[in-house]
Amino acid sequence: MKTRTAVFTAPKSIEIREFELPSLGAHQILVKVKSCALCTWEQRFYKGSASEDYPFRGGHEVAGEVVELGKEANCVAGVGDPVCLAIMTRCGTCDFCRRGMDNFCDCDNGGRVPGQPWGPGGLSDYVILEDYQVYSAGSSRDFASLALAEPVACVARSVSRPEIEFGDTVLVQGAGIMGLLHILLLKQQGVRVMVSEPDAARREQASALGATVAMSPFDAVFEDAVQEFTRGRGFKAIFFTAGGVPAVEQAVSLLSKGGWLCLYGSIHPKGMMQLDPNCIHYNEYVLTGTFSHTRRSFRQAVEMLSYGLVDVSHFISKKVAFPDVQQGFELAIQPDTYRVVMMFE
Ligand SMILES: [Zn+2]
Ligand SMILES: [Zn+2]
Repeated sequence: MKTRTAVFTAPKSIEIREFELPSLGAHQILVKVKSCALCTWEQRFYKGSASEDYPFRGGHEVAGEVVELGKEANCVAGVGDPVCLAIMTRCGTCDFCRRGMDNFCDCDNGGRVPGQPWGPGGLSDYVILEDYQVYSAGSSRDFASLALAEPVACVARSVSRPEIEFGDTVLVQGAGIMGLLHILLLKQQGVRVMVSEPDAARREQASALGATVAMSPFDAVFEDAVQEFTRGRGFKAIFFTAGGVPAVEQAVSLLSKGGWLCLYGSIHPKGMMQLDPNCIHYNEYVLTGTFSHTRRSFRQAVEMLSYGLVDVSHFISKKVAFPDVQQGFELAIQPDTYRVVMMFE
């Protein structure tokens, strides 16, 4: 069987290549891709700001339909059923996988051949995955939304990291798609959410999705507003999703005693921050980060999406038909776009 796949050969250059799929292994599953969202990681390859090599096969936010199950494939989904794909491979046996920290799997780079296209390859008509990578989406066939299981899984992990309780007050820094997904999931935890975001249109989105207060961190009365919103205590948890080092430094100053600072976003270009270690001792702050998703959080995300517990349709700015991947990326890199989803027949 043949499949088409999108290969990034250089900045702004994507070729659609056709190749023969290998035969299906006993524990593998053949999936017809129905949707693939264009994440910022792939956008960096498109724009030419990625640090890794071409040729690259992008596409890691993927949903589809089961076509064929290997003889010994262990999967609750049957042929024709909708599934979400955790397309990043996990060995299952390295020390991190055995600790339940499979986001740090040591074997993620396996099989890279110089000069050959590498990468998750979700921008393809068909993919062959191991059975553990395929999650049943129940009866949901909203493939554009199901493609967002991966970012929802990353945010689900972030939101479940700090010890927050019903009635707590938290801050989300940044209202891009990741900040907004934080708001959606945090609202389900019974907490009050404030958002700091310089852009007025994004603040409006944040309010529409349930943030009680949305304000620019550069506003002259920002810190007074925090005092009022938190009854002078500071935030029980702060989620950094976008901004630079000064935003992280500001976050430390806004925590309550026993507060958690969770670095969800990375910072480019990198920089150093000033931090008085005594503030961690005296205030029992917890400074932590989350990177990527685990099997556990991916399962949670697929359940939430397939049961309709979170509505991610607000984040789908545009759908584009495969194979016009180039057009998809041109739209995806526009600053006011959340997610462009490639749709397959
Ligand atoms: Zn992603
Ligand atoms: Zn591993």
